[in-house]
Amino acid sequence: MAKKKEEKNKHTGVVTPTSLAFFEKYINNPSPTGFEWAGQRMWLDYLEPYVDEYFTDNYGTAVGVINPQANYKVVIEAHADEISWFVNYITSDGLIYVIRNGGSDHQIAPSKRVNIHTDQGIVKAVFGWPAIHTRHGEKEEAPQLKNIFLDCGCTSKEEVEKLGIHVGCVVTYEDEFMVLNDRYYVGRALDNRAGGFMIAEVARLLKENNQTLPFGLYIVNSVQEEIGLRGAEMIAHRIKPNVAIVTDVTHDTTTPMINKITQGDLACGRGPVVSYAPAVQTNLNKLLIRTAEQHGIPFQRQASSRSTGTDTDSFAYSNGGVPSALISLPLRYMHTTVEMIHKEDVDNVIRLIYESLLNISDGQDFRTFQ
Ligand SMILES: [Zn+2]
Repeated sequence: MAKKKEEKNKHTGVVTPTSLAFFEKYINNPSPTGFEWAGQRMWLDYLEPYVDEYFTDNYGTAVGVINPQANYKVVIEAHADEISWFVNYITSDGLIYVIRNGGSDHQIAPSKRVNIHTDQGIVKAVFGWPAIHTRHGEKEEAPQLKNIFLDCGCTSKEEVEKLGIHVGCVVTYEDEFMVLNDRYYVGRALDNRAGGFMIAEVARLLKENNQTLPFGLYIVNSVQEEIGLRGAEMIAHRIKPNVAIVTDVTHDTTTPMINKITQGDLACGRGPVVSYAPAVQTNLNKLLIRTAEQHGIPFQRQASSRSTGTDTDSFAYSNGGVPSALISLPLRYMHTTVEMIHKEDVDNVIRLIYESLLNISDGQDFRTFQ
């Protein structure tokens, strides 16, 4: 018992009421893949006091820079985009069929309220679904991309169009941020705007603790991760970093119907997850682990065959090979509207990135031999 209590007391909180207020606002703002600008503005406004300068690229990736004059460049990165839907087809009856923008989950769509983003502003709609009473027969049809549809309260295509809705409008869910049992943050697209929040918090800590870095630090909030790691691909070529530490989410595998044999054994509350994958540079990864051990930051391990499926791959395989590593935040119910992350994990990912940066020296060569 005593030991447990002692371990519990070791947790170092990082997130402040002010930063939490930003996080909530940032999560509630929609940031669909390809349409991230508003969220990026909000993120840069938060980050600005903690960096020397910032810039954006043509597709909306936002970068805050500390020590822009330095030759040796270290990136810490997350992705800014949220999965969504595209309006794809409007029926003569005024119903709307959608296609995915990112890995949106058809199974959770029925009965959800949505925001359709139009030039005239947000238009409300719902994913309808036939009533249980009308679904007789032995075999029930499951929600699939081909049978889910939006109802925005119109009865003709013309009415729908009059609201400003057209093919290509993006659609996001209404669900907003909440705190569950004072233990979990819950919201849509914590994947991976929690990451954007955490790297901004790293910049805040550096500033508030008067830490000076011997290299240039690029705090990168990439667009378009959810459709193939594209924003990271673009910005990696532009920055040409020497090192990249990426943060994204990974699955908590302790909830029902997830196979630990294939998915690994990872849980919210047990700390940041370090990854073993070919794209993860082994000596950089060892630096992360040494840092965690040195500072008593709990961590978990995950292995990935071939790719990590995160922006780590984009950085690693750019510019002739950039030493890259991944620090993941365990998350429950990925790509639903009730994604859950543990408050302590958020603090610990921030601390692990922060302390790892302090352990990187100017010009550090991560090769095992030359
Ligand atoms: Zn995702």
